[in-house]
Amino acid sequence: MSPRGAPIQGDGTGESDWLASPRLRAVPVTNLAQLIGDARRLVVVAPHPDDEVLGCGGLIALAVEAGMEVRVVALSDGEAAYPDDPHWTGQRLAPARRAELIDACRALGVSPAKIVHAGLPDGRLRAHLDKAAQLLAGLVQAGDAVLVTWARDGHPDHEAAADATLRACAQVGARCIQYPVWAWHWGDPRQPAFLEGAAARLPLPQAAWDAKQRALACFATQTGHCTPAPAQPILPAHVLVRFGRDFELFLP
Ligand SMILES: [Zn+2]
Repeated sequence: MSPRGAPIQGDGTGESDWLASPRLRAVPVTNLAQLIGDARRLVVVAPHPDDEVLGCGGLIALAVEAGMEVRVVALSDGEAAYPDDPHWTGQRLAPARRAELIDACRALGVSPAKIVHAGLPDGRLRAHLDKAAQLLAGLVQAGDAVLVTWARDGHPDHEAAADATLRACAQVGARCIQYPVWAWHWGDPRQPAFLEGAAARLPLPQAAWDAKQRALACFATQTGHCTPAPAQPILPAHVLVRFGRDFELFLP
């Protein structure tokens, strides 16, 4: 991720506030079969490498376990995460984050051959929306279940990724399911906008949760567990805790 803009600043909504939210607790529980219906393939679209694991790492692990084919599409390499960092320039970050994504996917049981690194510019996906939609329409098949960041996630790339994916899914005849990432940061647990529709929570069994945590640990440039460590990692502990829950939330 490379957060820009007003909503993604500071520590954001505390995890304890989310866990205490009656609105979140009231979201109906789903399971893999119910969530993806009769889809035989899962395509997970991420604006930046790590969004796919943050939002759907558990779902991916469950789908792999169920014998489904899972493809992961990283629209950008997330190379603009640290624009002011003298070491972590785009030239260093792009290959580092590609490698992290490969390791993370392996941890979830997805082979590198199933990953598409689209290489669109981090931070400027909106300007490349047509290209992204075209690329996705070529990858997605009719009947696929396609996951993408929420269309109102509060990050320009996340929203552009959703628009491109929704367009491609409509064109091809695939089902689009959205997942929040940054909405957990700025959302109000008393009135979460993303819970207004048909949200569903997918409980993660221990094995899927473990795989997700192993996958998250692969994103060292984002968690700050790399050398040199960025001054302000994108995924510090107070952000990561939101993705250590024993469920994932989807907007079908
Ligand atoms: Zn992101």
